Amino acid sequence: MQEFDVAIIGGGPIGIACGLEAKKQGLSYIIIEKGPIVNSLFNYPVNMQFFSSSEKLEIDEIPFISKEAKPKRNEALEYYRRIVTSNQLNIHLFETVLNVEKQGDFFFVDSNKDQYRAKNVVVATGFYDLPNKMNVPGEDLPKVSHYYNDPHFYASQKLAVIGASNSAIDAALECWRKGAEVTLIIRGPEVGQRVKYWVRPDIINRIEEGSIKAYYHATVKEITPSEIIINTPEGEVTLENDFVLALTGYMPNFEFLEKLGIELSKDEKRLPSYDPETMETNIQGLFLAGVICGGMETHKWFIENSRIHAPIIMQAILNKN
Ligand SMILES: Cc1cc2nc3c(=O)[nH]c(=O)nc-3n(C[C@H](O)[C@H](O)[C@H](O)COP(=O)(O)OP(=O)(O)OC[C@H]3O[C@@H](n4cnc5c(N)ncnc54)[C@H](O)[C@@H]3O)c2cc1C
Repeated sequence: MQEFDVAIIGGGPIGIACGLEAKKQGLSYIIIEKGPIVNSLFNYPVNMQFFSSSEKLEIDEIPFISKEAKPKRNEALEYYRRIVTSNQLNIHLFETVLNVEKQGDFFFVDSNKDQYRAKNVVVATGFYDLPNKMNVPGEDLPKVSHYYNDPHFYASQKLAVIGASNSAIDAALECWRKGAEVTLIIRGPEVGQRVKYWVRPDIINRIEEGSIKAYYHATVKEITPSEIIINTPEGEVTLENDFVLALTGYMPNFEFLEKLGIELSKDEKRLPSYDPETMETNIQGLFLAGVICGGMETHKWFIENSRIHAPIIMQAILNKN
């Protein structure tokens, strides 16, 4: 069985930052990633542009050069992939960690392919795998998706976009520009206040001119193969519909955290317990890094402000030795 100073679960930007920092500090390490390198970013919309400027997405101060100030998804894939390959990071791709168990001073990390022994474990599994479900009839129909990829797919189709955050608004605008008939279904009173400042006026103008129809204070009641039925303050509305993009956010895999023994707050935030000075959880030697730290507050941590977790954790591990 292979043994490491640290096993890192998740090969997103922050898992990679942890691997790079471990290598720099002379610690033996493995990164285990269930998909391709930066799997979450790979699954973002093809035309997606980050709200952060490229230098804010840099890890270990390795320059990130992008065409515009705010990079596109493809440029970020290039950046993180080159970091992995040029540093020859020890990353196992398409391998899923199923369980971690502590026995004495060691963790036994079980994946679908192998078992490893590690003195420390970092959980950097992000939040992009589990969508917040609406739990309405028809949500499982093939025309409904919680992930948006390419606007071309929706050209000349009647598309309902559910949500009012950046993902929903980007999808609504892009698809409308490629010829989809777009209806936005918004639970609250307005387009989200956190929508990128240069995008918000665009969507508001499209709604005001009637190009995109928006329902506020509206929730989905049911989805059928040819319709979507929504509850609005004016009563139930039935719309003809070909596709639904339910961009209602995502959540961390709390079941996985609990299986590992990490304590979660009892309120709706479900914040995992960790010491912010070291990022160590209630289990000695088990650390958290990246967006996973925010529990249900998935907007709290992002690449910009969580890349710092990598040096904090590796320093804490070195201090123990
Ligand atoms: C549309 C969109 C735009 C964004 N724009 C920005 C931005 O402009 N600036 C910014 O700073 N942030 C942005 N973010 C947030 C940012 O992408 C995330 O904060 C970032 O991906 C967090 O990195 P992470 O490494 O913590 O998690 P992730 O990138 O989610 O990485 C977690 C990895 O863990 C893997 N994994 C999960 N479970 C397992 C398992 N059991 N075994 C093995 N591997 C596993 C996943 O496949 C994934 O690759 C954006 C997010 C979205 C959705």
